[in-house]
Amino acid sequence: MHLHATDRVFPNSLTNAAQGTIFWDAQKSIWLFVMIAGGTAAIIFTPSLSGFMVFLGTIVITVCAGHSVGMHRLLIHKAFQTPKWLEYTLVWLGTLVGMAGPFGMIRAHDMRDWHQRQLICPPHPSHAAGFWRDAWWQMHCRFDLDNPPHFQIEPEIAKDPIYCWMERHWMVQQLAVAVPLFLLGGIGFVLWGVCLRVAISLNGHWLVGHFAHKTGHQGWTIKGLPVQGFNLRGLGLVTFGENWHSNHHAFPHSAQLGIEKGQLDPGYWFIKSLEAIGLANTILTPTDLPERDGLTRVA
Ligand SMILES: [Zn+2]
Ligand SMILES: [Zn+2]
Repeated sequence: MHLHATDRVFPNSLTNAAQGTIFWDAQKSIWLFVMIAGGTAAIIFTPSLSGFMVFLGTIVITVCAGHSVGMHRLLIHKAFQTPKWLEYTLVWLGTLVGMAGPFGMIRAHDMRDWHQRQLICPPHPSHAAGFWRDAWWQMHCRFDLDNPPHFQIEPEIAKDPIYCWMERHWMVQQLAVAVPLFLLGGIGFVLWGVCLRVAISLNGHWLVGHFAHKTGHQGWTIKGLPVQGFNLRGLGLVTFGENWHSNHHAFPHSAQLGIEKGQLDPGYWFIKSLEAIGLANTILTPTDLPERDGLTRVA
């Protein structure tokens, strides 16, 4: 059995998981609108095959190696180990997705996860709202509990100066992509490789989260909980394995998300390739993990 210390939410006697308010989050909302505007401009004013290839290349690197592998499976779930320099690189690529810095990502993920483990889960963290309202809530608003639990990121991450730097300037860090792209291909490459990429990444991330809590295939359920995850079949390649969300609810700390036959999981293939060249080890799979309470196989 391996250790995985990812419990960062500490409720107290006042904590109430249901009572809270949804606020418009101006920074997050304006950021996304600017990216959508720039992304639309890319398609209308600077359509080109090379622009599209820049979009494709940067989205695969940031979302697969960065978001899914670095941010989600490594930093948040500690589902495998890498040398520190590679951990920083992967998490930084995840920061370049343009959604939040490492602390913001950990917090958003773990608070949602904690909410989804409660007997009553309010409509914001459970994605219970309809399509457009949920889109507005998730991508433009935030949900603040009146009496939240204490939230604490482990000090080796929270006090790490490199992670603190990534967190402080996560929006500005798009310049690390934008400047080289501008030098290579002018404003067109910036619109494709930054604006359109960030807009599609954030919208895609929300779409997967929305439908993965609504309907789909289930390999397992968690008995007694009102919110369940679902596998969105056929989306393995475009979501890099993040579509297997029923599996993720069943085995949250597994590095492997596509665990049944035919479930494509490029993020896991990437981790296994790192292992093959000696850059990843202690890779957790469902059999390495203690079973969750209420875990039930769906026939
Ligand atoms: Zn979920
Ligand atoms: Zn997760």
